[in-house]
This record gives sequence, structure tokens and C-alpha cells, in this order.
Amino acid sequence: MSETLDVIVIGAGIGGLTSAALLQERGFKTIVFEKNAFPGGSCSAFRKGGYTFDAGASVFYGFNEDDSVGTLNLHARIFRKLGVSLETVPDPVQIHYHMPAGFEVPAWYDRRRFLDVLIRRFPHEKEGIVKFYDALESVYDILSSLPAGSLEDVMHLAGVGAKHPLKTMALGVKTLYSMGGTARRFISDPELLRFIDLESYSWAVQDASSTPLVNAGICLADRHHGGINYPIGGSGAIPDALVKGYEKYGGSVRYRSEVKSVIVENGAAVGVRLADGSEVRARAVVSNATVWDTFNRLVDDSRLRVPEDRFIKAPSWFQIWLGVDGSIVPNDFHMHHIIVDDWAKYDKLGGTIYFSAPSVLDPSLAPEGKHALHLFVTAETSQWEQYERQSPEYRNAKEEFARSVIARAESILPGLQKGVELMVTATPQTHVRYLNRRDGSYGPLLKPGQNVLLKPQNRTPVKNLFSAGDSTFPGQGVIAVTYSGVSCASYIARQFGKPLDYL
Ligand SMILES: Cc1cc2nc3c(=O)[nH]c(=O)nc-3n(C[C@H](O)[C@H](O)[C@H](O)COP(=O)(O)OP(=O)(O)OC[C@H]3O[C@@H](n4cnc5c(N)ncnc54)[C@H](O)[C@@H]3O)c2cc1C
Repeated sequence: MSETLDVIVIGAGIGGLTSAALLQERGFKTIVFEKNAFPGGSCSAFRKGGYTFDAGASVFYGFNEDDSVGTLNLHARIFRKLGVSLETVPDPVQIHYHMPAGFEVPAWYDRRRFLDVLIRRFPHEKEGIVKFYDALESVYDILSSLPAGSLEDVMHLAGVGAKHPLKTMALGVKTLYSMGGTARRFISDPELLRFIDLESYSWAVQDASSTPLVNAGICLADRHHGGINYPIGGSGAIPDALVKGYEKYGGSVRYRSEVKSVIVENGAAVGVRLADGSEVRARAVVSNATVWDTFNRLVDDSRLRVPEDRFIKAPSWFQIWLGVDGSIVPNDFHMHHIIVDDWAKYDKLGGTIYFSAPSVLDPSLAPEGKHALHLFVTAETSQWEQYERQSPEYRNAKEEFARSVIARAESILPGLQKGVELMVTATPQTHVRYLNRRDGSYGPLLKPGQNVLLKPQNRTPVKNLFSAGDSTFPGQGVIAVTYSGVSCASYIARQFGKPLDYL
């Protein structure tokens, strides 16, 4: 195996799997080593008591089968290329926001309907609302007409620049702006600006001023074009389909295989060393681990250490999965909700509740007459380090904290506390254990005002060591790490003389 491999991928998260599958399909020999016994990392599912629960992600872009909506439907294009299919259900509402003072906003797929909700509450800001969301739309118009590729690939950049010169220039200018700065050019109502901060926080875990306009132009515009779709069978169906396509072309995921180090010789990555001491060699290595884990644990070179403060380290999560009596969930209940009960705390640890009810879109996820629910809030390992894992104190503290979050969520689902029949919880420590991520973090974030192009791309300071996943451009989110996987595979394929076709 070691003599013939082209690329080793460390980690079967969506970023790693996407790279591996596209390279394998193009005829490269690859292998994926995954520490867990299942693929998907933060985008996976688990079963308990007859329920299927999403381990993390559940708001999904990129599944629209209609290519005329643009090039951002990467999942649909990749699955088509790999010859695998995945059934999804369209979600009419991306997120239903519940905020103080009865401020309710369902982010409808129908853009006009969404804008009307805002204009009804803020008639004096009608013009600003339209101008701000049109600014996001103009970013989307550009991005959705460009093919996905690597920004480090000169041939790709030259080709795109020659074919779309005006759009490329306009996009370059837009990378200089933040979402919050743009909103403040058009809008001054403080409550509306807080909502716009929350729109950003819901996926970026940062306020709008810290979020690049370009990223916002994808998340807050594509929901009205490609839309949000939920995979039948839960979020684990996405990595399962990727693995199926990957294996069809001869790829292999080795589960329960933790990589302990990247072997570097004469300044170039030449392979990996596994936890059992064995070594596997290849022409290139792709790390799907975070930038901190790659350069502070896997690469043994003190000159390449990544200081904690190079990026903002996003918090981790406290997660709660519930099996509940179905009668407490109304028939018209939306799948995704965000609850803020105090604006002063929305961006503090535990301040915002993320809530989803996936079985409203896919009833197969819960036994008959029941619903599967998922709640999570931001949290840090430091809040839980005083407890010994498995100790009764740890279990009690988790239960008590979970009950306090559930009580707050009664505001959108009365009867929730009484309706709970099954509860599973996870602290940031659980995220460290399952995802092998530094402090269980959601990943590195740009500092306020930093240009989105400063996010690391796929190349690293070590020759032939590449990176794919949420530590690289464009950032967190399943569609974002899919883009990162595409760009990583494109760059490697070009270097190895067999460029990928555009998706
Ligand atoms: C609670 C939560 C909710 C979220 N909600 C959404 C959402 O609704 N929509 C959305 O788009 N995104 C969401 N996200 C974000 C999204 O899930 C992630 O950004 C994305 O899945 C990260 O993918 P990745 O490929 O970078 O890495 P990961 O998912 O972290 O996968 C990395 C994989 O590599 C493996 N690995 C790491 N180190 C090693 C090693 N040394 N050896 C072997 N294997 C290793 C890990 O076990 C893991 O399987 C959410 C995330 C969380 C945690």
C-alpha cells in the first residue's frame, strides 16, 4: 500500500471525505484514516432508543438539483459526479428566530415573505432592509456564477478572471467589507441591527461586524435560492453517501485508525504514523484536523506551532438530544429555531439556544407518536473540567444544566419539560473525545475586520501537507468545508498533473 498511494487523508469529516472522494474519482489512489468508527465528524448521526439524532449540523445548503440556481449546489454536483443519490426534504424556513419583546422572524425560503416580516415590524427601515439584503444578493449573484476551485491555483484564477473579469473585480472589492459594516450603512434601528447580528451569530458564532460580507452573501442569500434541505435519514446520510461514492471508485476509509503524527522528511510530508505505530507513506497528506491540532500535535516542528491567539478560538457546545411525546409538537412547528431571551446575553456562553426538531421533516427519525429534538448552547471545556468523567457529580451537573436549558425552551414549546422521555447530553469534553478538536472548538474564527482571504487556504508551510475543513477558507459549516475539500482536491490534482474538471 505504502509504495503506491498518492494521497493520505487524516479524518473522515466532510472536508476530508470530499477531498478524498474527488481525488479518487479522478484516478488518484487515496486512503482516509478516521479515529472514530463512523464518518462525518460534526456532521454525523447516532441512534439511541429508537431515535436517530444529529450529532451536530442540521441546516444544510447545496442540495438543490437545479443547476440553473447557480454553482453553489456543491452537494448535488458532487453526488452526481460520484454517481450516488441522497433523498432530501426542502425546508420552508431556514431558522425561526424567537427574540425578546415578541420579536419573531421565520427566515422563509420565500425571500419576499421573509422581508415582509421585517418590514412589518420596522416600516421606518423599509428602504434600509431592502438595500441591505440586496447587498447580500449581489454577492450571491457573483459567487453563484463562478465555478468552485482553489484560490491558490493560478490557472483556475486566470481562467475565472478571463471569463468573468467584472465579477472577479467586484468580488475582490466586496472582500473588503463586513456584514455589520454594510448593515450599518443602510439601517440604524438598534433592534433590527441586533437581529442582523443574530443572523450572523447563528452560523458564524460572531456578530455581523466580525463576519465578512462575502460569507454572509452565501448563507443569507442562498437560503432563498438553492434553499435549505434536510437529508432523509438524518445528517449522517451525507457522509454515508460520500463514503459510498468514494468506495465505488476504490477508495478506502480505515475507521478506528488515529493518526498520531505526520512524517516529514527534508521539509516535505511523506506519510503518517498511526496510533498502533505503523507507518503509511504517500506523495501527499491532507489533514482534516483543525489548524491547532495539525501544527501543535501532528507535525513535530516547534517552528510551525500555531499560537492560540493567531485566530479567535470559537467556543465548543453543550448539546442535548431529547426523545419526546409527539403530542407536544404542533403540526406546523418549524424544524430550526433560535431562542434569545435576553439581548445582553445572546453572545455569552449559553446565551442563545439552538433548537431543532428534525422529525417534523423526516418522521422516520423517531418512533411512531414521538419526536426527536436537538438543543445546544455554546460552552467551554473550562466549565466542566472540575468533574471526573463518569462520576455521579458529572452526570448530575450535566442533567441539571440540561434541565435549565430545556426549561428556557418551554417558551417556544410549552409542555416540553413534561414531555421528555429520553435525554442524552454532551459537554465540550465529549466534543474533544469524538472530534479530536482542540477544546472541542467550533474552529478558528477571523478577528474583527480581517479580510476573509486571510483565512488559511489548503497549502501549509510543510511541502505536500495540505489542509481541508473548517480551519481553511471559507470557514465553518458543512457547505463551507465541502468547498474547502473541493479546492484542496483541485489544487493537489493540478500539482500532480491531472486537473479536476469543474463540478
Ligand atoms: C453542534 C454543532 C452544530 C452545527 N450546526 C451546523 C449546521 O446546522 N449547518 C452547518 O452547515 N454546519 C453546522 N455545524 C458546523 C459543521 O458541522 C462543521 O463546520 C463541519 O462539519 C466541520 O467539518 P470538518 O471536515 O472541518 O471537520 P470535522 O467534522 O471536525 O471532522 C474531522 C474528522 O477528523 C477526524 N480526526 C481528527 N483528527 C484525527 C486524527 N489525528 N486521526 C484520525 N482522524 C482524525 C475526527 O474524528 C473527525 O471525524 C455545526 C457544528 C456543531 C459542532
